[in-house]
Amino acid sequence: MNHTSLKQLSHLLASGQASSRELCQDYLDRIARLNPVLNAFITVDPERTLAEAEAADRLRAEGRAGALTGVPIAHKDIFCAEGWLTTCGSKMLANFVAPYDAHVIERCKAAGLPCLGKTNMDEFAMGSSNETSYFGPVRNPWALQAVPGGSSGGSAAAVAARMAPAATGTDTGGSIRQPAAFCGITGLKPTYGTVSRYGMIAFASSLDQGGPMATSAEDCALLMNVMAGFDARDSTSLERPAEDYTRDLTRPLIGLRIGLPREYFAEGLSADVARAIEAALAEFRRLGAQTVEVSLPMSRLSVPVYYVLAPAEASSNLARYDGVRYGYRAPEYTDLTDMYERTRAEGFGDEVKRRIMIGTYVLSHGYYDAYYLQAQKLRRLIAQDFAAAFQQCDVILGPTTPTTAFELGAKRADPVEMYLSDIYTIAVNLAGLPGMSLPCGFGADGRPVGLQLIGDYFSEARLLNVAHQYQQVTDWHTRLPEVK
Ligand code: GLN
Repeated sequence: MNHTSLKQLSHLLASGQASSRELCQDYLDRIARLNPVLNAFITVDPERTLAEAEAADRLRAEGRAGALTGVPIAHKDIFCAEGWLTTCGSKMLANFVAPYDAHVIERCKAAGLPCLGKTNMDEFAMGSSNETSYFGPVRNPWALQAVPGGSSGGSAAAVAARMAPAATGTDTGGSIRQPAAFCGITGLKPTYGTVSRYGMIAFASSLDQGGPMATSAEDCALLMNVMAGFDARDSTSLERPAEDYTRDLTRPLIGLRIGLPREYFAEGLSADVARAIEAALAEFRRLGAQTVEVSLPMSRLSVPVYYVLAPAEASSNLARYDGVRYGYRAPEYTDLTDMYERTRAEGFGDEVKRRIMIGTYVLSHGYYDAYYLQAQKLRRLIAQDFAAAFQQCDVILGPTTPTTAFELGAKRADPVEMYLSDIYTIAVNLAGLPGMSLPCGFGADGRPVGLQLIGDYFSEARLLNVAHQYQQVTDWHTRLPEVK
């Protein structure tokens, strides 16, 4: 049961071989066994899950089931889900039960997908290792002393260890792709505006985007069909005709032009990762693809640009946590200002405070022009690099991360070193493009290597096609870690 894809689970349900209640119970049992080791979930609520499963079973009995009705998934704890504790990995929201559903959650409910629980994450999605979570770090199912990546590390670890067949994630600078790479699963960060941010707790609004994390590209496509869609409550949600993201899966790759960015295969890339990517390229050539060298010269500035813009937006978004209306409030204070100060001092962790300070600084009078405005200009140039590259190729291919998963604690002391683990993923968010990560091998340390595919705007179906064709001739995505 635990090797099963969304498609197989939907067949089991449709053919009556299993009920949603049975499937959910199976996954809940596995979560109960593995979560004490992995810490991938912040909240599990078996009663709630089973009630949702029974509702799905009733829909099916009444002949009103859709493609995935009854197939359970896990949700990153950044998505507000009515009645569920929704913490965003922070002490600030450790007592917050969401009074409404995010658009993504509404859509999953409407499709009849029971929720297996809320997954652990870096605090307010700020991090690349899951170590900033107030609820403790998640462990990588492939190596318990290693990080699972972040910020969607709980979702990635849960899917890798088959505690859930798939999960939702969000990606502001790499938070779907980098943990997918570290945990050996497949994840897609869609074009900005494709998945509604309504009810998705805001970090950096011009970069945040929800997306699917699953074991295969095909499952990501199925989950995208559920998650994506216009929503008037998100002012940047794009009103476009509904797409079937599975429509191109079987298209042959003959003639596909793969662009290899010179800058992604240069200094800093570990030999392990480079070797696995080279082997994957050989596979793509056998499938009929051609490669062409492209250049993304401004991408070297993506990390500094991101660490001006993302904190700027975060400092504004996080101003709402003031202890007044919801969330944490300091137990003792003298007056209103003191209450604000203590609440924020006690409720936020170090990384979040660091970002609020940087963001406030770069937005302040006198520095706005020097930092924020400059970063906005560079952001445009970074996007133009991609536009030029897509004149020469259909998709861009490279590593998702410079190394395989690093040890817990290895980068905690040095924020800049931590920030550099997103060196290949961040430019995609700055440009608003779709990108995905899929497993393509293992390092000498036995930890998974992720391959990144980047496409032009709205090319999700094509990216999923390219990934799916690769997964038809390789079996990296079917490998399972042994968690004891
Ligand atoms: N690791 C990056 C950061 O810390 C990206 C996080 C994300 O995509 N949410 O901001």
